Amino acid sequence: VVGGIGYGAYDIYTKRHPIEQKPFDPTKRTVVILGSGWGAVSFLKSINTDDYNVVVVSPRNYFLFTPLLPSCTVGTIELRSIMEPLRFITRHKSRNVKFYESECTDIDPESKTISITDVSDIKGAVSNTTIPYDYLVMAVGADNQTFGMAGVREYACFLKEIWDAQKIRTRLMDCVESAGFASQTPEEVDRLLHMVVVGGGPTGVEYAAELHDFLKDDLEVWYPELADKFRITLVEALPNVLPMFSSQLIQYTESTFKQNKIEVLTKTMVKQVGDKEIKVMDANKELVSIPYGLLVWATGNCPRPLTRKLMARIKEAQTSPRGLLVDDYMRVAGAPDMYAIGDCTFSKYAPTAQVATQQGLYLASVFEHLARIEEGQNKKITPFEYSHQGSLAYIGSDKAIADLPFLNGNVSIGGVATYVFWRSVYISNMFSFRNRFLVVGDWMKSKVFGRDVSR
Ligand code: FAD
Ligand code: MG
Ligand code: MG
Ligand code: MG
Ligand code: MG
Repeated sequence: VVGGIGYGAYDIYTKRHPIEQKPFDPTKRTVVILGSGWGAVSFLKSINTDDYNVVVVSPRNYFLFTPLLPSCTVGTIELRSIMEPLRFITRHKSRNVKFYESECTDIDPESKTISITDVSDIKGAVSNTTIPYDYLVMAVGADNQTFGMAGVREYACFLKEIWDAQKIRTRLMDCVESAGFASQTPEEVDRLLHMVVVGGGPTGVEYAAELHDFLKDDLEVWYPELADKFRITLVEALPNVLPMFSSQLIQYTESTFKQNKIEVLTKTMVKQVGDKEIKVMDANKELVSIPYGLLVWATGNCPRPLTRKLMARIKEAQTSPRGLLVDDYMRVAGAPDMYAIGDCTFSKYAPTAQVATQQGLYLASVFEHLARIEEGQNKKITPFEYSHQGSLAYIGSDKAIADLPFLNGNVSIGGVATYVFWRSVYISNMFSFRNRFLVVGDWMKSKVFGRDVSR
């Protein structure tokens, strides 16, 4: 706590503002960063702006702390507590950083320019333009995987962006209030209070866990007549949830879910998505329909349209449909002076914030070396090496699981102590003192007053 306050004070003390920063220098190279997520921000925080002009292009003018997004869907944490305005980050740089709130729609590796479109609803006189780069850093993340299934985009909610969490929270309370509507039929009450999650990866599991907590801590208190009709079902195509965790922790999760009355349907494939029900092929290869009130879709990633467009332009070198191929120095195969980090790449690592952060940090060191080499110094650039710090997931009722690398081996821990550890890890990894302060405040607030159940 003392360290946190100390750091916070230091953080505020060392802040700069655009007016105190060095201006753009036409004699320096310009680095354009696409994105404002984990990869982009990690790179941005570390790149030395004495050496480069930096431009950031992203449709979001903030960074989003995704690990706590599932907590926002039920109101344990408020949305704005896990957002950090990009300008709070860029103000720390020595040179002014240009930020364009816009979407990059095309990249031309030959002329080294990108096309950008303003994402605003109130567009100005200019809303499309092209900008040049000397170096391009792709950190646009990934899209939600739907397997091209009809109905998913229309009826399901994803859980990736802030508006997804907002939509889920509203829809959840809408289901609860509609179930309580005067003379509602019992079948409709059952349907409305059935929360279905598709995908047994960390996002799906953590979301189901948060829903369970919400049911236990709040719904049972405020809606006693409805609480026992509330059901949570998790659908997973593979034989078990959380394939990246040790078998011991998978079992622990599955038994905790059983105790918490979260039904886990493994070896179950979604075949059809409608507005009130999904059709699945169950473990016995039978087609069953599952009525739902709220459907959350968390089945992983696929490349964004921009990434696919770029891959098509340089298709001789880009042979994987799953993401951008990069070498050990994060250079995009087939495109000079272009780098890619995080979920938009196809690499041997899992698509996590942990990987994106390390790659961003590494890439900033590459740029540091490039600048020194240009000055005539003798520097050798070493390839990227990922250092796995462990995997953590929240599984509900104050329990978490963790697989941690330890002395060439691995320790698997689970339970309430792991949860305390989980919280402190997230809190200390939170990007700013301001966010830490807000999240801890939210945790205290929901403990004292209960979660806010207004729609
Ligand atoms: P992102 O962080 O997704 O950032 C992509 C950025 O690109 C965004 O700012 C986006 O607005 C921008 N962008 C999109 N399209 C364009 C465009 N056309 N032009 C310009 N910019 C564009 N990982 C962990 O390690 N631990 C966890 O506990 C964890 N929990 C998670 C929980 C949830 C609910 C989710 C969804 C993910 C979680 N992850 C976790 C995974 C982690 O969030 C991702 O791996 C990470 O965000 C990848 O970073 P990135 O920079 O590649 O992409
Ligand atoms: Mg990013
Ligand atoms: Mg992010
Ligand atoms: Mg705008
Ligand atoms: Mg209603």
